[in-house]
Amino acid sequence: MALMTAEQYIESLRKMKTRVYMFGEQIENWVDHPMIRPSINSVAMTYQLAQDPQYEDLMTATSHLTGEKVNRFAHIHQSSEDLKKKVKMQRLLGQKTASCFQRCVGMDALNAEYSTTYEIDKKYDTHYHENLKNFLIYIQKNDLIVDGAMTDPKGNRSKAPHAQDDADLFVRIKERREDGIVVRGAKVHQTGSVNSHWHIVMPTISMGPDDKDYAVSFACPSDAEGMFMVYGRQSCDTRKLEENADIDLGNAKFGGQEALVVFDDVFIPNEYIFMCGEYDFAGMLVERFAGYHRQSYGGCKVGVGDVVIGAAALAAEYNGCEKASAIKDKLIEMTHLNETLYCCGLACSTEGHPTESGAYIIDLLLANVCKQNVTRFPYEIVRLAEDIAGGIMVTMPSQKDFESDLPVGRNGETIGDFCQKFFVGNGNCTTEERMRVMRFLENMCLGAAAVGYRTESMHGAGSPQAQRIMIARQGNIQAKKQLAKDIAGIK
Ligand code: SF4
Ligand code: FE
Repeated sequence: MALMTAEQYIESLRKMKTRVYMFGEQIENWVDHPMIRPSINSVAMTYQLAQDPQYEDLMTATSHLTGEKVNRFAHIHQSSEDLKKKVKMQRLLGQKTASCFQRCVGMDALNAEYSTTYEIDKKYDTHYHENLKNFLIYIQKNDLIVDGAMTDPKGNRSKAPHAQDDADLFVRIKERREDGIVVRGAKVHQTGSVNSHWHIVMPTISMGPDDKDYAVSFACPSDAEGMFMVYGRQSCDTRKLEENADIDLGNAKFGGQEALVVFDDVFIPNEYIFMCGEYDFAGMLVERFAGYHRQSYGGCKVGVGDVVIGAAALAAEYNGCEKASAIKDKLIEMTHLNETLYCCGLACSTEGHPTESGAYIIDLLLANVCKQNVTRFPYEIVRLAEDIAGGIMVTMPSQKDFESDLPVGRNGETIGDFCQKFFVGNGNCTTEERMRVMRFLENMCLGAAAVGYRTESMHGAGSPQAQRIMIARQGNIQAKKQLAKDIAGIK
């Protein structure tokens, strides 16, 4: 099958029997639900741009397994060039959606699994790499979305998986059968889970011998029996349920998505298992997936940052203060911060190297430095955006007030007339245009999109401390001490 179009992707979701719950009820037609649809549109953009000849080089690649053209999101990186194109593709998609487009977790999971299964097989003579390759070919041929599910609920963070009071707080093997395994547990804040055709489940931490039943990795369809999702709330999300919702949403078309994914005894056939008790490889899989996803943030967050910077510049212009040197300097600072993140994304890609499987992996130290910066810079970028925009981005009346024809003035002027009059800008833009850019910034800085741009920058792909642990491990302080000793003449 050729690459899917955006429309075909959306239609393909309608055929899924994925169980989705929201506000305590099952959502039957979740594809058209106003709170879910924007997140589907964001994923659909990964299909739409892949059809566009001008983006072909970034959005598609040649499968090393079949020689066929595939969406880059289903590609195993074959060079540092591939790793760099990945980051550029993510920046492009961030620019086009100003949101999380969700497909990267699957790409990062497939790549981490590819090299890890190779190394597990080498040590234990298992067949996981073959399973993974067959699964990958199926995903590539059908151009499907895969969710990469890593984060377990974790319960008491001071206890290992096997030592938790409730055995289900990490996904575990409940039963081993001749033809497969039964798994139980959950994954939390899963990006794009509802919008995915398949899930790849991975362990979330390094594990010891007592955690054997938790060292499990597998693929399963998102509508597998026993599996369901509880949709995550976002700040201001119910604005999407308002009649004719548009301007007040800031970004009416696109959005991100997270959900609680429950595995309430799900059967996984042998051919979809990629790890089953090899606890000594859990750490490798986690480290590699996290590394790839920390690289990813040097692309996607930069693309979204581009739109935030553009909106801040527009807000300044509409307010009539774009020529002020202080405004110009703030825009320079925002650009400097944003491009620094891009430098990190490209640097860890350029310094990539082949794994034993032949697939390329990023430089882990630089990928962790990348993500550590991402936990900080977008916060400063939105702080400056709020500074430039002014308080109006959070105090403006609603779209309904601007459109209201209720006469309230001395001469019969409507609420809408007063809103139009008093929220006027520099005279070169309409009041509505000014309102749109302010609402966009509100959405990015503290509305529904802030999930993807702010808090996800902090915690997505691992919270800051997780990167600091990796930086400590990879930083090679001993070698640096030796450098100092050599020059200072210390024996
Ligand atoms: Fe992709 Fe960024 Fe969303 Fe992760 S946060 S899935 S890298 S867009
Ligand atoms: Fe993320």
